Amino acid sequence: MSPDGCAIGLDVGGTKTAAARVAPDGSILARAMLPTPADDMAATLHTILEAARAVMSPDVRSVGIAAAGLVEWPTGVLRFAPNLAWRDAPLVEPLRDALELPVVADNDNTAAAWGEFRFGAGRDFRHMVLVGVGTGIGGGIVADGALFRGAHGFAAEIGHIIVDPDGPLCGCGNRGCWEQVASGQAVTRAGRQAVLEGETTVLRDQVDGDPDRVTGPMVTKAAQDGDAVSIAIIVEIGRRLGEGIGALVNVLDPEVVVVGGGVADAGELLLSPAREAFRRTVEAADRRPAVPLVRGQLGNDAGVIGAATLALESTA
Ligand SMILES: [Zn+2]
Repeated sequence: MSPDGCAIGLDVGGTKTAAARVAPDGSILARAMLPTPADDMAATLHTILEAARAVMSPDVRSVGIAAAGLVEWPTGVLRFAPNLAWRDAPLVEPLRDALELPVVADNDNTAAAWGEFRFGAGRDFRHMVLVGVGTGIGGGIVADGALFRGAHGFAAEIGHIIVDPDGPLCGCGNRGCWEQVASGQAVTRAGRQAVLEGETTVLRDQVDGDPDRVTGPMVTKAAQDGDAVSIAIIVEIGRRLGEGIGALVNVLDPEVVVVGGGVADAGELLLSPAREAFRRTVEAADRRPAVPLVRGQLGNDAGVIGAATLALESTA
C-alpha cells in the first residue's frame, strides 16, 4: 500500500466497463470488468458504480472515469457519443455522491494518452499524439508535458476528420470520416466485402461463406497467419492510417506518435505500411527530425491507468 494512497480508474466503452485500482507509479493493484448496458445511460451509471466498488479499498483517494465520447472538462458531463445512446449524461456527480470521493471524467483516448505519456510509450517525450484505433479512431494530445483538451474538453476528435467525402456513413452523421477508412470498422467492412465477392481467403471457410460473421479480430488473426487477402486489408488500413498521421503531424509537430487500441494488435503488419505512408505524406519528411510511430505499451490498460493517474494528479 502506497503512503500516497491510490486511485480507481474506470474505462467505459460501448461493450465493456473496465475498472482498476492503480498505484501512483501506474501499477495495477486490482481489476474488474463488467458488460456496459450502452443503450441505457442510467444502467450504465449503475455499472460504473458497481465496477468501482469491485476494486475499492480504504486507501483509494480519488476516482477517474474515461468514457468513449465527448466528455466536457472539467465538469465531466458526457455530451455525445457517436456510436452509443449517450447524451448530456453527468458522470462525475452521481459517482462522487455515491462513493464520497473526488471524481474526474475525461474522454477515453485522452485518458489513454495520459497513461502512455506518464508510464508507457510516451514517457521519454514532452510532445506526444496518441492515435487509438479500435472500432473507431480517437486521439489524445500531450503538448509540452500537459494534456491539450481545447476550450471544452473536446479536442483530438481526430477520427472525424473527413478524408473521403463520398465514403461510408459515419456514426457522427458525416460521410468518409478517417475512422471509416482506417479503423476496426474498416477492417471488418473489407473482410466482409472479400467474402461477399468470393475471394480466396481462409475467412470464407471460417464463417461458412456468411460475410456478416466476419469480425475485425478474425481478419487480423488471418493476416498474422499469412492469409494474403487479409494481409492486403491490413496493409491498406495501415496506409490510410499513416496518411492521416501525416496530416496530424503537420498540424501538431509531436516528437512521437503512439498507436493504441485493439487494431494495434496487428503490430508491424499495420505499423510498417502506416510508417511508409506517413513518411510519404508528411510535409518535408527529409527536412524534419524523424517522428517515431510506435505501438502503445500499456495495451487495454492505458485508459484505466491514465484515468486513475489524472484523478490522483487532479485531486492532489
Ligand atoms: Zn465521423
